[in-house]
Amino acid sequence: MVYIITKERIDMPKIKILPENVASKIAAGEVVQRPESVVKELLENSIDAQSTHITLIIKDAGKTLIQVIDDGIGMTEEDAMLAFQRHSTSKISDIDDLERITTLGFRGEALYSIAAVSRVELKTKTNGMELGTHISIEGGKFIEQRRVNCEKGTNIIVKNLFFNVPARRNFLKSNATEFKHIYDTFQRLSLSYTNLRFTFIDDDKLVIDLPESSIEKRIQFYFGESFLDSLIPVRFENENLKVWGYIGAPHFAKKAKGQQFLFLNNRFVINKSISHAVYRGYEHLIEKGEYPFYLFFINLDPKRIDVNVHPSKLEVKFDDENLIYSSIYSAVKDALSTKDFSPQIELKELDDFSAQTRFKNPIVEASGFIAKEIYGQPKKELTEKDFTSTQKQKSDKEDLFIETDIVEKTKQILNSLTVEYIDDSVETNVTRQVWQLHNKYILTPIKNGLMIIDQHIAHERILYEKAIQSIENAIPLSQQLLFPQTIELSKPDFELVMELKEYLEKIGFDLKPFGKSAIIINGIPQDVKQGKEKEVILDILEMYREFAMSSINDEKDSLAKSFACKSAIKAGDPLTEKEMLSLIDNLFACKIPYVCPHGRPVFIKLTIDELDRRFGRTTNKEF
Ligand code: ADP
Ligand code: MG
Repeated sequence: MVYIITKERIDMPKIKILPENVASKIAAGEVVQRPESVVKELLENSIDAQSTHITLIIKDAGKTLIQVIDDGIGMTEEDAMLAFQRHSTSKISDIDDLERITTLGFRGEALYSIAAVSRVELKTKTNGMELGTHISIEGGKFIEQRRVNCEKGTNIIVKNLFFNVPARRNFLKSNATEFKHIYDTFQRLSLSYTNLRFTFIDDDKLVIDLPESSIEKRIQFYFGESFLDSLIPVRFENENLKVWGYIGAPHFAKKAKGQQFLFLNNRFVINKSISHAVYRGYEHLIEKGEYPFYLFFINLDPKRIDVNVHPSKLEVKFDDENLIYSSIYSAVKDALSTKDFSPQIELKELDDFSAQTRFKNPIVEASGFIAKEIYGQPKKELTEKDFTSTQKQKSDKEDLFIETDIVEKTKQILNSLTVEYIDDSVETNVTRQVWQLHNKYILTPIKNGLMIIDQHIAHERILYEKAIQSIENAIPLSQQLLFPQTIELSKPDFELVMELKEYLEKIGFDLKPFGKSAIIINGIPQDVKQGKEKEVILDILEMYREFAMSSINDEKDSLAKSFACKSAIKAGDPLTEKEMLSLIDNLFACKIPYVCPHGRPVFIKLTIDELDRRFGRTTNKEF
C-alpha cells in the first residue's frame, strides 16, 4: 500500500470503535426511519468533515437514490472500511468527550445503520492520497473494495433504501411527503451553515444552489424579501449564554411550528421551553395556537446540554432551563417593544413603492424561485442590490402590509377595514361607472376617491373562495364536455392527479384514469374556459407542487389557490362593462375581498385627500 504521507494525514482524526462502556452511554435510537434520516446523517457527516461545498442528489424522494458529494477531508482506506462498523467514529473516544461534543455526529452508528438497509457505494479520498477508495456494501454485506481515481472528499450513494426490509419500505409515505421531510432537513442545515455552499438536485433537476452567504440571504431565499424586511433582530448575551437571531412580525405567525428554528451550537434542536418563552414574549400580539417565526442561534458550553436525550427526535435539555427561559422571554419582549404593531392601512407613496411589493407572499416567492429552477428557467442570482433594495424603503409601519396566512391572520387586521369599506363603498347606484385600464385594472369611483382593482387578482380571490366552498360542501358545479379530452401525463403528474382526484372532482373536474398515465376529462368547472382544460390542469399541478414544497402543506387550500390562480382571467384579457360590474359584485360578496389568496392586494384606493395632497392643495388653503 503506497500512501503519500502528508501533514494533513497525520493530523486527521482516526476512526476507532467505541469501547463498550462509552457506546452504552449513548442513547440508542433507530437511525434510519425514512429517506430523510439518511439525508440528514450524510449531510451532517459532510459538514463534520469540514467541507465547503456539499451537493445532495435524490431520486424518487430518496426512495431509489440518495447521493451526497462533499469536498471535505475524506477518509483513508482503513478508515473507510472501519466507518461502516457499529460504534465506529473519529469524533469521540472516551466518556469525557461526550461532555465536549462540537461535531454533529458522534455515535458512530449512521453509516453502519444505513449500509444495513440499502446498497451503498462510497468513494473517498484524503488530501494526502494519490488514489481514493471505493467500497460497495449491500444490506450490511461487504461486496468489494478497490482503489479508484477520485476527487478529494467523499461521494456516497445510498440506493434502494429498505430493499431488504419490505415492511419498512411499504411504510414510506407518498413522494410528496418524503420530499417535504428531506426539504425541511436541507433547509435547516443550510440555514445554520451559511458559510457552506449547498446544492440540491432532485430527479435530475437543479432545485437549489446556495452560495456561501449570510443568514439574512438564506432567510431571503427561503422566505422572500418582504419577509426578511419584516424581521426583528433579537440579541442577548451574558457570560453564560449568547442568543442571537430574528423573530417575525406578529402577523406572520402560523398555525404550525414549521417556521421556528433553534440552532444550538449550530445544531437544529427543539426545546419546548424556548418555544414557550418566545410565545410569552409576544404576549397579546398573537393568539393561542399561533406560532411566530423565530430563528435563533444559541451558543452554550457543550457541557451544559444533553444532546443525548432523544437521539432522533431532536429534543434537547439544558441544565438551567429557567435561566434560558427568562433570557429568551425578555429578549423577545424587548425586541418587540421597539416596534409599533397597530394596524395601519393607508397608501402613501404609490409611485415609488408599489403596494404590490409590500403584499408579496414570501412563501410563494421563495417556492416560485425554486420551481423556476426546476423547470429549467434561468436561475436568479441574488445580488447585493436585490438584498438591500427594499430595506431602504422599509419603515416599521409597512411591516403590516405583508401577509402570508391570509385566511386567518388578515381577518383580524382587516376586520377594522370592513367598517371603512362600507363607508367609502363602491357606489351602488345604477349608473356606476367602470373603466378598464390597459386590459389589466378596473377603475371605479368610490365615495371619497377612486378604487383601482386588479382584475386577475380579484377574480382569483372569487374563484378561491368558491373552490374552498365546493371542496368543503361537496357541491361541484361541472360543465360536461361534448368531446371528452384524453391527456397523456408524465408519471409524477399522473400520480399527483390521482392523489388530488377527490378534491379536483369537488371543484368541478370530472376525471377518469385511462391506462397507466393518461386521464380522460369528461367535465370541467364552470369557470374554466372550454379548450383550456389541458393547460389549466397542467398549470394547477405545477403550482400545487410549488406549494407542496414550501411550508404550506394544506392540500385543500393549496389546490384551491392553484386552481384560482390558473383559472382566473388574466392581465391582458379585455372585459366588457357587464363583466367588470359582475366581477366587482362577486368580489365584494367574498369573505375577504381585500387580498388574494397569496396575500397581494386586490385593490387600492386613491382618496381625494391624497390627490389633493399631491397637487399641493390643502382643504383650507386655495392658491
Ligand atoms: P459519526 O458521524 O457519529 O461519527 P458515522 O457512522 O456517521 O458516525 O460515520 C463514521 C465515521 O466515518 C465518522 O466519524 C467519520 O470519521 C467518517 N465519515 C463519515 N462520513 C464522512 C465524510 N463525508 N467525510 C469524511 N469522513 C466521514
Ligand atoms: Mg455521522
